[in-house]
Amino acid sequence: MAGDYAYDRVLLKLSGEALAGDLGYGIDPKVVDDLADQISEIVKDGVQVAIVVGGGNIFRGLAGSAEGMDRAQADYIGMLATVMNSLALQDAFERHGIYSRVQSAINMQEVSEPYIRRRAIRHLEKGRVVILAAGTGNPYFTTDTTAALRACELDVDVLMKATKVDGVYDCDPVANPDAKRYDTISYMDVLSQGLHVMDATATSLCMDNDLPMIVFDLTKKGNISRALKGENVGTKVE
Ligand code: UDP
Repeated sequence: MAGDYAYDRVLLKLSGEALAGDLGYGIDPKVVDDLADQISEIVKDGVQVAIVVGGGNIFRGLAGSAEGMDRAQADYIGMLATVMNSLALQDAFERHGIYSRVQSAINMQEVSEPYIRRRAIRHLEKGRVVILAAGTGNPYFTTDTTAALRACELDVDVLMKATKVDGVYDCDPVANPDAKRYDTISYMDVLSQGLHVMDATATSLCMDNDLPMIVFDLTKKGNISRALKGENVGTKVE
């Protein structure tokens, strides 16, 4: 294991919203910088890090189709939004002295490598952060499902799902002050209780492939490293 960490190779799922910060829309360079700061700490300690970033801070296919757009076309726009976020993350990593590669599921050779599983693994082994852009490359999917899929493909030890709350609750903790937080929960219970952790496709993929996930609060600085050291800063789903 790398240093005090409980995991050697991880996949971090960031929502697009995480990059928007208080702006609520688009990319806040200060927030991205702060994220790169946190991630560079664990990379320098030897943890291998792959990242899937969403695009909801810029465009969501479902929202576009609700306004009358063709769903698949809207989803492609959503996937392109994730490429912009990926490039912003890469920019911040390089400024923090961390080597990184963007691999896109939709070919965009001027700004990224294509997604090639074996090459992604090689980058990870060399200590480069691999940022996986353009989702799965297919409409009708989400970046949560992308994260579950790539986590399985890249044989990571844990999927880290960054959110604004400190784990999985039995009901919405914002609406209900008595909501109970789980330290651990099974994927089966997440599905049967209809808990909104990830969409059902992503959840089933993790469950079927025995991939553990930690749901944690990204807004508290240092939480990525704390979660990876096994501290109780979120909920472990397995
Ligand atoms: N998307 C897609 N296929 C994928 C991943 C994403 O079509 O494999 C599109 C979809 O329109 C989605 C958008 O990209 O709404 C942005 O991703 P997501 O909504 O998962 O981002 P997040 O909520 O994490 O910011």
